[in-house]
Amino acid sequence: MIYEPVIGLEVHIEMQTQAKMFCACPVVDSVSAPPNTAVCPVCAGHPGTLPVLNQQAVEFGLRVALALECTLNPFSVFARKNYFYPDIPKGYQISQYEQPLAERGRIRLSTLQGERLIRIRRVHLEEDTGKLTHVTPEPGAADPGSYSLVDLNRAGVPLLEIVTEPDFHSAEEVRLYAELLRALVRALGVNSGDLEKGVMRIEPNISVRPAGSSELGTKVEIKNLNSFRALERGVAYEIQRQSAILDEGGRVAQETVGWDDARQMTYSQRSKEDAHDYRYFPEPDLPPLVVSKAWMEAVRDALPELPWARQQRYKESYGLSAAEAWGLVAEKAPGEYFEAVLRAGASGIRTVYAWVTGELPALMHAAGMGFDSLKIRPEDLAALLGLVADGTINQTTAKTVLAEMFASGQPAAEIVLARGLRQVSDAGLIARLVAETLAENGPEVENFHAGKLSVENWLFGQVMRKAGGKANPQVLRAELERQLKR
Ligand code: ADP
Ligand code: MG
Ligand code: ZN
Repeated sequence: MIYEPVIGLEVHIEMQTQAKMFCACPVVDSVSAPPNTAVCPVCAGHPGTLPVLNQQAVEFGLRVALALECTLNPFSVFARKNYFYPDIPKGYQISQYEQPLAERGRIRLSTLQGERLIRIRRVHLEEDTGKLTHVTPEPGAADPGSYSLVDLNRAGVPLLEIVTEPDFHSAEEVRLYAELLRALVRALGVNSGDLEKGVMRIEPNISVRPAGSSELGTKVEIKNLNSFRALERGVAYEIQRQSAILDEGGRVAQETVGWDDARQMTYSQRSKEDAHDYRYFPEPDLPPLVVSKAWMEAVRDALPELPWARQQRYKESYGLSAAEAWGLVAEKAPGEYFEAVLRAGASGIRTVYAWVTGELPALMHAAGMGFDSLKIRPEDLAALLGLVADGTINQTTAKTVLAEMFASGQPAAEIVLARGLRQVSDAGLIARLVAETLAENGPEVENFHAGKLSVENWLFGQVMRKAGGKANPQVLRAELERQLKR
């Protein structure tokens, strides 16, 4: 039988605000910060404390909701989601249930099969839990009992949950959506997009049904995926596992599963809990959230250009392909840098594109740094490319100069002057170097005349070496051809 996969996504985004959701503790990097150093009685859940809503967190949530074209609820309500777990010190999580911040949005995907419209069901605010580290001592240790460490730095960090309708039908679509969402939260300054740090966690709900059927099958939810690869593999695995069960006449059990990356398969965690298990009720310590029209309009007006609009503009204004444009906009910095170089007067879009996506990242990658600490300003790169364009230096020299600019932050022209890297275009000098080289390499020249044409490039390299790499390549090439034909 042929089955159609049906998938809906729940994504949790940590909002990288200055303070936590309901207290003044800072939001710290949950990987590098020492445990339990950003904790106060409020986020540690001490009795008698009261939450105070963080305005910046609401604003970040509004940015995302508006960018996803949601309808805001004029009136949204916080609720207690009750459950016991050591990482949730209050015994409940403050979330939104019946009246979320925003509902009914949408986002467009361009897939290989064409455009897909994905409906956003809801966007709501909540708080993150603490982090547990489970420790199993080495066998033979004095006390072999295993234990867990609790770090409350993350408890109370603002979270945004974005839930879609079950509108996806392949692992590819799911991945595309996740990539768009990551680019969006980066562009909005809400989240770093560093999935590996757990700041964006994806939970796909997957079911399959006989192709052509309009009923939904039983869904399985994969918890807390924090890489695009795991997302794609996990979804593909579930589609295949569930199809096989149905093919054998079995029934898919509704459950929550985890992804085992080492074994590349899902494993059952628990049978699905229902909303009533959480005993949701309105949070008595927080008034309903009212977002004024003026505030909403102000946030909407301040939205930056969204990644998909920027991608479209790059295609139209710069003639880049969809993939090239996406490569520049998936993160904020490369595209902004690219445009700043063009604004600084660099000519040749393809050239600028090649340097910004090739030479420059290669240097940054080797040094393990990003655009944020780059010493080469866009106008410095534009000036370097100008020196190539006007023939002052050749391409190869420009790469050397770039590496030096990268290390020292010195402008290109100064480096060229100080190190005598000016390109040699003097036809007389180049003619002499070519003649010398041909005289020194008689056997190779004979080979060339005997039909081994590749020798020409080798000879070109020899002359360039004599010229200290600085010869104008066009002049050299023409002169070499002229002398070889003689
Ligand atoms: P729950 O209450 O179990 O969390 P919801 O109805 O709130 O379930 O849906 C959670 C997510 O699962 C949403 O993204 C939704 O689109 C998706 N979803 C719901 N039913 C199905 C289904 N049968 N197959 C695939 N996805 C589904
Ligand atoms: Mg769910
Ligand atoms: Zn606190």
